[in-house]
Parts: sequence; structure tokens; C-alpha cells
Amino acid sequence: MNVVLFGPPGAGKGTQAKELSQKYDIPHISTGDILRANVREGTELGLKAKEYMDKGELVPDQVLIGLIKDRLEEPDCANGYLLDGYPRTIPQADALTGILNEINKPLDSVINMGVGDEELVKRLSGRRSCKCGESYHIMFNSPKEEGVCNACGGQLYQRDDDREDVIRQRLAVYNDKTKPLIEYYDNAGLLVNVDGAGLVDSVLADICKIMDQYK
Ligand code: ADP
Ligand code: AMP
Repeated sequence: MNVVLFGPPGAGKGTQAKELSQKYDIPHISTGDILRANVREGTELGLKAKEYMDKGELVPDQVLIGLIKDRLEEPDCANGYLLDGYPRTIPQADALTGILNEINKPLDSVINMGVGDEELVKRLSGRRSCKCGESYHIMFNSPKEEGVCNACGGQLYQRDDDREDVIRQRLAVYNDKTKPLIEYYDNAGLLVNVDGAGLVDSVLADICKIMDQYK
């Protein structure tokens, strides 16, 4: 099952991907999580990426293309993968097609989660994240114990790019650079739309209906 979970920042990709990855036993590959892990570890990639991430800009395509190629070649992708946050530009999508043809794992589907801008701002400004990759919301999806991750017990934090000014910039970048991929994948016959504005469980049920077709 080879799937891209697509949508603007805050659409709920990470939230859904955690559940889907367990249910279908395929890895959740979030380029944002990989970049943040590199920032935390102070790697060369992390130092370079941070400059862009803090401003709400995209990290250059060539950096991401190399990173995703290496990740998709890992053995845990043998039965499929769930991409979250990649591709974000037409050159990234073109590169992905080439990589997937090379490794013979073409996409089954691009699931586009639609959510309106003001809801996205509310979701992102109330998001609390854990370094294990889980994310919560102070009102819509709060952890059992305030400030503590249900999954790993780690301390939750607010991402530097989840401040309102950076959120607005990220949404503008999404509209300019990433949204054109909706037409790109629609033309390729791969796009399936889901309403991402419902409750977490009802969005999950809608996505599972799509993914069950590829089992
Ligand atoms: P993305 O990975 O697409 O950027 P997240 O999965 O991190 O988005 O979700 C953004 C925020 O919105 C998080 O705080 C999350 O808890 C919350 N959230 C996710 N899905 C929903 C939903 N269906 N309804 C309300 N809040 C949600
Ligand atoms: P995310 O966790 O998906 O919201 O991504 C956080 C930030 O990481 C983005 O605002 C970008 O700066 C960077 N990033 C993540 N994925 C990509 C990508 N595919 N291309 C470029 N930059 C990315």
C-alpha cells in the first residue's frame, strides 16, 4: 500500500498517519519529523534546514529529494509506505515518480485532506508536539495528562513554527508551491479527496475506506 497523505499544514496528516501506520503496518514517513530530528541532533542537514523551517519556508528541493530517496530504500518500506509532508513542490513530485519507478513501488493513491484556513490556524496554534512524532491539541485532542505524551511519556512542546505569524507564512507557501500538486495528481488519476474537517475518528474511517482498497 503506497500512499501520500496530502494536505495543508495542520490538516491532520500526522495525527491520521500514526493510526494508519499501526493499522496497516507500514511506516509513516514524515519529512518534517525527519528534519526536526536532524535539527535536535545538530547534524549538518539540521543546521541548514532550521534556517528555512523557522521562517516557514520550504527547505530546498535537492535536500529533500536525497533524503526521501534514502528513506524509501529502507527495508521497512518493502510492504508500502505512508508519506506525510512530501512531496511539497512539482520538482519534488517529479523526483518522487522517478524514485518510485526505480524501486518499483509506484503510488496507489494521494489522499487529499481538505480543511479551511481559519480551522488550520486554530489547529496549529493549539498544537502540542512530542519528539516521538505524536501531536496533540490543547482543546481538540488533549493528552491524558497535561503536557505529557500518551505514547511515550515525553514532555510536550510548542513548535517554533506554530506561532501565528509563521503559521500564516506556511499557509501562503502551501497555496503557492504545494497546492498545485492537487491538479498534478488529479491529472495522474491518483487523487482522492476526503473532508479533513470532521472529528479525528470520522476522518480516519473515511481514509480507511480508501486504503482498504489497496490491501
Ligand atoms: P499536520 O501533520 O497535517 O500538520 P497534525 O496531525 O499535527 O497536522 O494536526 C494539527 C493539529 O490539529 C494537532 O494539534 C492535532 O491534534 C489537531 N487535529 C488533527 N486532526 C484533527 C481533527 N480532525 N479535528 C480537530 N483537531 C485535529
Ligand atoms: P511539517 O512538519 O510537515 O509541517 O514541516 C515543517 C517544516 O519542515 C516545513 O515548514 C518546511 O520548512 C520543512 N519541510 C518538511 N517537509 C518538506 C518538504 N517536503 N519540502 C521542503 N521543506 C519541507
